[in-house]
Amino acid sequence: MFIAGTGVVRTTCTAKRVRHSTEQKLDVVLMMIVTCVDCGNQFAIGHPPEIQDAELARRQATWLKDQFVWDHIQEQKHRASIRLPASNESIK
Ligand SMILES: [Zn+2]
Repeated sequence: MFIAGTGVVRTTCTAKRVRHSTEQKLDVVLMMIVTCVDCGNQFAIGHPPEIQDAELARRQATWLKDQFVWDHIQEQKHRASIRLPASNESIK
């Protein structure tokens, strides 16, 4: 996406851990909820309002599940907030 004078607009998609106890204010549009199959933690994939992309969210969900698997293999805790690869970055 280009806007005259500003060059490339950097948009960031993020996944945030869903906490059921507190309602979180998101400045992004909720696209999808991804659940870790190992521990059941749920993460919400959010897109900035100007780049809502269901197909991208689907690929990010697949990417995210891979990250979760790696976290468990390496015995790391999932981060509460994860920056997702954008459409112009490689997603396997
Ligand atoms: Zn997990």
